[in-house]
Amino acid sequence: MADSHPTEPQSLYAAREPVFPKKVYGKFRNLKWVIMVITLGIYYVTPWIRWDRGAALPDQAVLLDLANRRFFFFWIEIWPHEFYFVAGLLVMAGLGLFLFTSALGRVWCGYACPQTVWTDLFILVERWIEGDRNARLRLHRQKSWDLRKIRLRLTKWATWLLIAVATGGAWVFYFTDAPTLLVDLFTLNAHPIAYTTIAVLTGTTFFFGGFAREQICIYACPWPRIQAAMMDEDTLTVGYREWRGEPRKNSEAVKAGEPQGDCIDCMACVNVCPVGIDIRDGQQLECITCALCIDACDDIMAKIGKPRGLIDYMAFTDEESERAGGKPKPIIKHVLRPRTILYTALWSLVGIGLVFALFIRSDIDLTVAPVRNPTFVTLSDGSIRNTYEVRIRNMQHETRDFEVTVKGDPAIRVELEGATDGKIGVNADEVYLQRVYLVAPAGSKPATEERSDVRIWIEDLTSGERAYKDTVFNGKEE
Ligand code: SF4
Ligand code: SF4
Repeated sequence: MADSHPTEPQSLYAAREPVFPKKVYGKFRNLKWVIMVITLGIYYVTPWIRWDRGAALPDQAVLLDLANRRFFFFWIEIWPHEFYFVAGLLVMAGLGLFLFTSALGRVWCGYACPQTVWTDLFILVERWIEGDRNARLRLHRQKSWDLRKIRLRLTKWATWLLIAVATGGAWVFYFTDAPTLLVDLFTLNAHPIAYTTIAVLTGTTFFFGGFAREQICIYACPWPRIQAAMMDEDTLTVGYREWRGEPRKNSEAVKAGEPQGDCIDCMACVNVCPVGIDIRDGQQLECITCALCIDACDDIMAKIGKPRGLIDYMAFTDEESERAGGKPKPIIKHVLRPRTILYTALWSLVGIGLVFALFIRSDIDLTVAPVRNPTFVTLSDGSIRNTYEVRIRNMQHETRDFEVTVKGDPAIRVELEGATDGKIGVNADEVYLQRVYLVAPAGSKPATEERSDVRIWIEDLTSGERAYKDTVFNGKEE
């Protein structure tokens, strides 16, 4: 009787097959070049754009000023208490991603994800230095490290490293004045955090873009797993018209005499794929829908005189109707669906809400923190005094004088620590801490009740702009 158990233990580990994507021409490749130039341009250039906000404020158009807890975005200035703007923008980014994924599948992954953009750039450099797919494959398979291989590899790695340093460098420029930091970096006067951040980002960019590449998309990124929930049978994604292409050339069916389909089995679609898959095997988790295989196959179809679109953007619903001899639905019908309309409506609602909030926001604000140790003090004349720490934010670019008043029981009067004229001057773009006393005369209602509601107002003495916060006055219960 034969032994059913294998004698050799089988390895569950499969080593990575390096991918050497071939150069391809076509409309989707061109679109990817345009998006790459725009996204990289925005990333590298933005910290160098200047924006005049007056002498007291930084002139960098986009700046995350952590030291002063402020975010500058051209004419918009976000203070820490306005973090809801950032939260709103994140919600919009999320909804935008849902919208694009439900309409066009992994279009984010294929065109605009930083991993895709930088990997594309690194492959471009690799192609310039080592040549196209076949030359790179030969170099990879060459076991010996002769002078040519050493020269090509060192040139490639040095160029990658320069890009990686520029990437890490650009990131830190978003957090402080870019020209000043650049000088500080070269004169070794920058903060160690800046050098550490650049070093970490240089290392990750070099490794992710140069070596890990598609492995990040396949194994590390959670997005491919999540997006399935946002796609349905009407989502447009890259697919192969197998009913038109099969049986392909060289297949057993063709050898057996069946008429050949449109696929000539040239492997052009596989050779250009940056994740190294064959789209003719059907939808795969690895596919980032970059559409380069569409360009490659369209080129082949043109050469052999067949209609384009053997590989194309299509939906499952089109597949069914095309198999039955029908035509695909117009693209607009795939894009305009209840799900995409809902995402667009939600996205617009949040956007309109943010714009509205931006226009109605006040450029003064205050916080009131009652001092509770002790909750009140009895003065020599028997009146009761409560103390409050009032923080006044002057978000205008000029000094303003404020008056503090209180609304509640008319018996309560306001006293300001250190301000004999009753005015509080707050410098431009400053948060000023003022100690405020509320005093209720002996025997008055608030002085004799445990708690009375009060409202502290601040008013700009020039413009009349006002803001308030509600708090309580603690009396001595009798
Ligand atoms: S590029 Fe087109 S013709 Fe060539 S193998 Fe791929 S699907 Fe077939
Ligand atoms: S199969 Fe086509 S669309 Fe998918 S990743 Fe490869 S080249 Fe891009």
